[in-house]
Amino acid sequence: MQLKSVAVLGSTGSIGTQTLDVARRQNITVDVITARSNIALLEDQIRAFSPRICAVEDERSALALQVKVADTNTIVLGGRNAVIEAAAMTKASTVLNATMGIAGLEPTLAAIGEGKNIALANKETLVCAGDLVMSEAKARGVKVIPVDSEHSAIDQCLRSGNQSELERILITCSGGPFFGMKRDQLAGMTKADALAHPTWSMGAKITVDSASLMNKGLEVIEAVHLFGISPDKIDVVVHRESIIHSMVQFCDGAVIAQMGLPDMRTCIGYAVCYPEREHNDSKRLDLTALGTLSFMKPDTDTFILLPAAISAIKRGGTVPAAMNGANERAVELFLQNKISFTDIFDVVSEVAESCDHHAADSLEVIMETDAAARAAVDNYFAKH
Ligand code: MG
Repeated sequence: MQLKSVAVLGSTGSIGTQTLDVARRQNITVDVITARSNIALLEDQIRAFSPRICAVEDERSALALQVKVADTNTIVLGGRNAVIEAAAMTKASTVLNATMGIAGLEPTLAAIGEGKNIALANKETLVCAGDLVMSEAKARGVKVIPVDSEHSAIDQCLRSGNQSELERILITCSGGPFFGMKRDQLAGMTKADALAHPTWSMGAKITVDSASLMNKGLEVIEAVHLFGISPDKIDVVVHRESIIHSMVQFCDGAVIAQMGLPDMRTCIGYAVCYPEREHNDSKRLDLTALGTLSFMKPDTDTFILLPAAISAIKRGGTVPAAMNGANERAVELFLQNKISFTDIFDVVSEVAESCDHHAADSLEVIMETDAAARAAVDNYFAKH
């Protein structure tokens, strides 16, 4: 395999640290790392990977880190703009974006502007600004390679046919920790309950999104943008075992599935090594040990944010960005134990339904929509 290098945005999170595991096992150079404030881990990462640049969003933390790593050659930059600049300044050919939420949008656009390929783990980027990001990527001739396991699977399945032969996409869904529950049971679920995901180990925000099935809604929107397909041609299939990571149906009725044990490092390796495949010694799938795989329809009467997300992408424009902003704020409040689990359902669907529709054609419009949606959530709880 040719020598690769990567910039890792959000290097201290779940996907970020697993990306560094992949970089270590493949001898991939890590040119840039960025994070919000976890300078203890950033120091370890600087000493292990000797990146050229480390950008820390929190400026005070950046100053403290500069002192800690003064004996290294890594340049430490501080501030929100430093993260965006680091994404653009990297010498790596691929920028892996594992930041959380809409904060990942500007670094993605900056990296695309410099002609970098994007390995995208930040789905909110496409949910809020899919048209903008994909048209910029096309204009600059860069590839957006999904890291999200479902979209990685779809990307792999699509290699068996042409875009014109694609008929449907079947996105699988583990069902999350609250699978089978009804609304009255969900109302009492706590932060600890929501964070106990049955099959995937992930960060807090996405784990709550998986429990509410908002994550699956966001993934449908992500797929619309990545694969240029109508939301009417996407089905969500509950598959509790998380072995089939998604499927593609072609015009002859053939369904191609991508399977494997649930391990994000496989998806990260696929994106970072693209178009080659990573040689690794990860644990292999043993189908006879599994015995059975099951499939069901999602309970959209209970988990109302999945249909709400599909209706948001059908309305289009800034509506998905408003829904996403409301969800980010609501999950933040839930993780602070300020609202209940079903409050997330109520406030996000309310904001998504009542928001104005504008063309999502500039970064400014999208950021304004996001801010307004967050304010609408706070306003909702001030009244309820
Ligand atoms: Mg996923």
